[in-house]
Amino acid sequence: MKQVKVIKIDVDKCNGCRACEAICSAFHAAPKYSSTNPERSRIRVLFDPLKDIYVPVIAGEYTEAECNGRNIYTINEKEYDECSFCRASCPSRELFKEPDSGLPLKCDMCEEKSPQEEPLCVQWCINDALTYEEKEEEGEEEEKPGEMEIGLESLVKKYGVKTVRDTLARIAKG
Ligand code: SF4
Ligand code: SF4
Repeated sequence: MKQVKVIKIDVDKCNGCRACEAICSAFHAAPKYSSTNPERSRIRVLFDPLKDIYVPVIAGEYTEAECNGRNIYTINEKEYDECSFCRASCPSRELFKEPDSGLPLKCDMCEEKSPQEEPLCVQWCINDALTYEEKEEEGEEEEKPGEMEIGLESLVKKYGVKTVRDTLARIAKG
């Protein structure tokens, strides 16, 4: 059995306050809680107030190539843009990229160093648009790549392994 952690998102309850973006970016700042910058957040709220659309999206996998086919969703008579529900850090948009380095951002369920009882974005969402569940599912616990591995992989894809290796060696020499 493996432990599966799920954040449920209810777009109808989100009012676009962006508290989730603030706390996530503060938690991931260096030093921790030293700044807030939504662009560093692993959760982003896509919004269009004129259409009463607020969609919190949590960063998922990095993808090297953008997709060819996209969908427009109509839910409760609201029309959502093609990429509204997509969690990918992808070349076709600026979302989920670290603003200084361009490295992909991915939600770590706030477990990087100090595990949270409940993810911080869930704790800070006073409208209950985000709720948290842990459940057990059949299957083996799979080992997930860490943030550093994902970042290095994307650098290698962008610049090639030799450039990345030479740069690391140069940095290590100081
Ligand atoms: S904290 Fe909750 S209500 Fe506020 S923007 Fe985030 S998901 Fe929406
Ligand atoms: S679970 Fe934690 S890391 Fe993931 S989006 Fe929410 S605050 Fe950010």
